[in-house]
Amino acid sequence: MNINNNKNKAPHPDTLCIHAGKEKGAYHGALTSPLFQTSTFVFENAAQGAARFAGEEPGYIYTRLGNPTTRELEVKMAALEKMEDAAATATGMAAVSGALLSFLEAGDHIIACKAIYGCSFALLNHQLPKWGIEVTFIDMDNIEEFNQALKPNTKMVFAETPINPNLRVLDLEMFGNFCQKHNLISVIDNTFMSPLLQCPADFGIDIVIHSATKYLNGHGDVIAGIIVSSAEKIETIKLTILKDVGGTMSPHDAWLILRGLKTLSVRMARHCESAQTVAEYLEMHPLVSKVYYPGLPSHQGHQFIGKQMKGAGGVVGFELEGSVEEGQAFIDAMQLFSIAVSLGDAESLIQHPASMTHSPYTPEERLSAGISDGLIRISVGLENVNDLIADLKQAFDYILALRSDSVSTAVSWR
Ligand SMILES: *Cc1c(COP(=O)(O)O)cnc(C)c1O
Repeated sequence: MNINNNKNKAPHPDTLCIHAGKEKGAYHGALTSPLFQTSTFVFENAAQGAARFAGEEPGYIYTRLGNPTTRELEVKMAALEKMEDAAATATGMAAVSGALLSFLEAGDHIIACKAIYGCSFALLNHQLPKWGIEVTFIDMDNIEEFNQALKPNTKMVFAETPINPNLRVLDLEMFGNFCQKHNLISVIDNTFMSPLLQCPADFGIDIVIHSATKYLNGHGDVIAGIIVSSAEKIETIKLTILKDVGGTMSPHDAWLILRGLKTLSVRMARHCESAQTVAEYLEMHPLVSKVYYPGLPSHQGHQFIGKQMKGAGGVVGFELEGSVEEGQAFIDAMQLFSIAVSLGDAESLIQHPASMTHSPYTPEERLSAGISDGLIRISVGLENVNDLIADLKQAFDYILALRSDSVSTAVSWR
């Protein structure tokens, strides 16, 4: 059965995660596709080599230009994102830069959301202006802001949703409609959701990118990215920036991500379920002044669940009521959560955006993007959720103990 041509009865995405892109019966019938760990491909004769270079004969040439293992991943991701094709990249940032630089040139203007992944912000704010590309950052909360940012030379609009680290959700319908109306290339970083929780193509988005480092691979052992779009745009990306700047994916990484994707649906379900429980626990805790999680009715993003998101994901942000030092002491007290950036792994992670992932922002830029100094971000992993809550509880208890200690010390000192 060719899953991709079976359009009328398209299998469920959970099934596509496992089967799409696989050449059934190929490779001696191996159940798991072999890893083509090869840099180059041998031609039968000189004429064949010439025909491949001329594009007259299909077939592989050199792994930077294409590889069967990487190709399986690309076809799978295109099926999952309901788009025509995909290009696998060395890192998530190679996906962001590949998508942007393949279409932007000096004199163009791009509109971007103020609050984006720290290095995406650095690319837009520090690198693009060097090459004569103008950037306008906006909140993207309402259509007036989009209209005000529009210029005659605007070519592209870039954002991610939910936004890292306060999980604010952008209205993809508004975003997509604006871009279509003004004929702009729309780009959405879908890393936080994975294609199982959100398909930007449903809202007419042109290019979807992922840091495959996160949920797609899911096991914390790969850095990689992927760009998904129309066949025409992917061809442009592959034949220009990816080929000539060179940020393509290693087949070994593609093979690991293919393995990771087989369990994406069960992992995502568990991430969402546990993150919801953790968010509800945090919201009730007296030491927490605010919790950012779209699964909570109190959160701005809640209205989009069911409309553009199938679930709220596995990342939770919260504000600890207390000093910066207490925030650091809290993070240091965690035993099961590891202090690390990244997200989407089996292991639960905790980090401090102001001093870690969002340090490329100045304090003023952070404030304007809604990232406070007291914000702590956790990526809820696949451990038993009661153990995760017990870990958070013992860290809160430690902060409370520190406070009562300092009070009693102060009293006895007086
Ligand atoms: C991690 C991340 C990136 C960058 O991906 P790398 O694989 O680290 O290069 C881009 N966007 C988002 C939302 C991310 O979380």
